[in-house]
Amino acid sequence: MKIIVIGAGIGGSALALSMQKAGLDYVLLEQAAAFKEVGAGIQLSPNGVRILEMLGLADDLAGFCAEPDFHKYTVWDTGELILRTALKSLVREKYGYAYYHAHRSDLIAALTKPLDRSRLMTNTKVTAVGQNGGTVWAECEDGSRHEGDVLIGADGIHSVVREQVFKPDAPRASGYVTWRGVVDTADIAHLDIPVSAYVDMGPKLSFVYYYVSGGRQLNWLALGQANNEKRESWSQKASKDEVLAGFEGWYDRPRNLIEATDQPFVTALYDRNPLETWVSGRIALMGDAAHAMLPYHAQGAVQSIEDAWVLARSLALGADDPVRALAHYESLRFDRANRIVQHSRAAEGWYHVEDLDDVARRNDRFRRNNDRYGDDVTPQQHWLYSYDAEKAVLGTDHEWRDLPPW
Ligand SMILES: Cc1cc2nc3c(=O)[nH]c(=O)nc-3n(C[C@H](O)[C@H](O)[C@H](O)COP(=O)(O)OP(=O)(O)OC[C@H]3O[C@@H](n4cnc5c(N)ncnc54)[C@H](O)[C@@H]3O)c2cc1C
Repeated sequence: MKIIVIGAGIGGSALALSMQKAGLDYVLLEQAAAFKEVGAGIQLSPNGVRILEMLGLADDLAGFCAEPDFHKYTVWDTGELILRTALKSLVREKYGYAYYHAHRSDLIAALTKPLDRSRLMTNTKVTAVGQNGGTVWAECEDGSRHEGDVLIGADGIHSVVREQVFKPDAPRASGYVTWRGVVDTADIAHLDIPVSAYVDMGPKLSFVYYYVSGGRQLNWLALGQANNEKRESWSQKASKDEVLAGFEGWYDRPRNLIEATDQPFVTALYDRNPLETWVSGRIALMGDAAHAMLPYHAQGAVQSIEDAWVLARSLALGADDPVRALAHYESLRFDRANRIVQHSRAAEGWYHVEDLDDVARRNDRFRRNNDRYGDDVTPQQHWLYSYDAEKAVLGTDHEWRDLPPW
């Protein structure tokens, strides 16, 4: 069985490595000239780290990730800590794997380094896909044509596979953007910021920040309403003044971090309405192509890693009937990923509350959660983190399935 994978982002690269590990025959087609990620930081919860370690990346992760001790939610003007949940020691103890922060370029390098080079094709933009009987095909801008038995669209939120085989609907603009920046830790040493995962929650804006690159850099995101039209792009530059304009009256840490940044960027936030299916015969979608989500639960890439493992293992175990194997993959992944899409939309509200009375009410709710879950994970975190993709494939994930659905 030969599998054609389109797109070598975090999802497609994780799929290629999972298939290589499972002894499957694949080819990975990527439109870019090199395997690289253009965004900066990424949060990797233990449900994803578990898979990355099963793929043999434990030492790489320990080398280039930062491991936060707590998740800390803070009030915008006073800097008061209103909710603190444990990460480092508790998550390792409870789930057996870390909660990590990584630079995307480090993660993509680790995922692609072990891949068999003869199976990787860069500068290969797929323009058309289809299937005919038992054969799938992909045609590329350079005139090349690839044929195989199974085709996987891991080609992101603007997926050509989704558009041509499933539904030609457009990504949904949320109306919010994220301004982003990376700062060298040496330049902000005087701020003395411990290695935690931070969310400063204001009216309208939220400011998220954490260390990456083994602690040598700090990555920040300011999530808010665009002051003019923005694109869904990782390379659109923003001015510091544009970002700082929203932080009038805030306590000083967000301003200090923004001011210490050489070049901020801005990305408009989009997601996708759920599809009715991700599988058509021998063609399937995964990652953002299947279920692009807003970043409020930091799960988009982690869900693509879960897809990758389940998909590769389903194909390996069901190699004699690929159509059935793809249907099995979908049955294991569809509900979980789409739930997270919906919850990520719902969480948007918490991050952009405008009215000051509503801000006070939200903060009180966070304080109550601190009393309830201060030394534990929340039920939602437990539902996310305790998913074991290999148990799901083997049908032995009863414990997780028995959890109240989130
Ligand atoms: C601001 C922000 C913060 C986020 N933070 C987190 C986080 O902390 N944790 C987390 O888990 N997720 C996070 N996410 C989500 C995460 O970035 C995405 O879900 C993830 O990168 C999707 O990976 P993917 O491989 O499915 O798609 P992509 O990363 O979009 O990869 C698609 C690949 O396909 C290639 N491609 C596209 N079209 C073609 C074609 N026609 N032919 C050949 N190749 C093609 C592209 O070049 C690309 O390499 C965040 C998202 C945003 C916007």
